[in-house]
Amino acid sequence: MSNVLVVGEIKDGALKKISKEITSAGKKIASELGSQVEVLLIGAGADGFASELAAVGADKVITANVADFNPEGYANLIAAVAKEKGSKVVLMPHTGMGKDYSPRVAVKLDAGIIADAVGLSVDGGKVVAKKPIYSGKAYANIKVTTDIQVITVRPNSQEVTQTAGAGATEATSQGVGETKSKITSTEMSGGNKIQLTEASIIVSGGRGMKGPENFPMLQELCDTIGAAMGASRAAVDAGWISHSHQVGQTGKTVSPNCYIACGISGSIQHMAGMGSSKYIVAINKDGDAPIFKVATFGVQADLFDVVPALTKEFKKALG
Ligand SMILES: Cc1cc2nc3c(=O)[nH]c(=O)nc-3n(C[C@H](O)[C@H](O)[C@H](O)COP(=O)(O)OP(=O)(O)OC[C@H]3O[C@@H](n4cnc5c(N)ncnc54)[C@H](O)[C@@H]3O)c2cc1C
Repeated sequence: MSNVLVVGEIKDGALKKISKEITSAGKKIASELGSQVEVLLIGAGADGFASELAAVGADKVITANVADFNPEGYANLIAAVAKEKGSKVVLMPHTGMGKDYSPRVAVKLDAGIIADAVGLSVDGGKVVAKKPIYSGKAYANIKVTTDIQVITVRPNSQEVTQTAGAGATEATSQGVGETKSKITSTEMSGGNKIQLTEASIIVSGGRGMKGPENFPMLQELCDTIGAAMGASRAAVDAGWISHSHQVGQTGKTVSPNCYIACGISGSIQHMAGMGSSKYIVAINKDGDAPIFKVATFGVQADLFDVVPALTKEFKKALG
């Protein structure tokens, strides 16, 4: 049985959490397939993270010290390693970078692809990916029927398990090959210090925020607890915050461990983007607001009382 190949990412000198999440998920899948999990870790300083990946399941860490991101180059490299290793399952992160290179990998491997899986299982020797459909109103279980299965996995959807793998390491001799484009510079949009789609805590503001002058209050809470700031479309359409913060059907799909919705009613379109969050905290004056139906914790109160009080208490607790 061929091994499962997992692709790990490094950004700004740090191992992305999703890399550990899909390593653990890959380990589980590999065990059920009677195979092992090999992690191809791409990025500057990849060698330094091998032990962290071994601790969460990697049987082998294949390092590629590639300094600059280029989706074409990443796809060339991943496909070359998958071919060399004879991988039949390739798991990649459904991150901004992953969304760019993963379809190219599938084409190069002549494989079917499932994007944005939130669950993985095995049936008849093939991986079955569970993914949200119809704006998160239902789930589909999908099996890629080609010889090689390519699947991208949503950040924060998989548990990191401390099941150690064999942890062998190897530097790949494969390279990024020829590319027809070059990224000359990148800049973060909208001023979020933490990427919304990969954040483990998100604090979002809606129409209940009343105006742009009140968003610094949310930013202070975000900074205190290390959260990214999101928003509803009502807040974005009003021009209070940029579209890069919008969560929902026509915004970003997020899946944090904790989503704190402030002054957001919980429309179907908003929930399409955050419904798979692990814990949802709703702060809303209206006890009948639909957001309370999906909230793990609900606070029926004025957000202008609750948010500053939360920030104050978190500051005390976190020092
Ligand atoms: C095709 C389509 C796509 C869409 N895509 C998206 C999308 O991607 N994302 C998205 O968010 N929406 C989207 N929408 C819009 C969506 O239908 C809603 O209009 C929007 O989500 C409402 O935003 P809101 O909850 O902030 O505002 P509202 O529905 O007006 O809710 C504001 C809430 O704030 C509460 N509130 C007011 N003052 C306070 C206070 N002081 N303290 C506490 N609570 C208070 C109110 O009780 C209310 O529940 C889309 C709509 C369409 C038709």
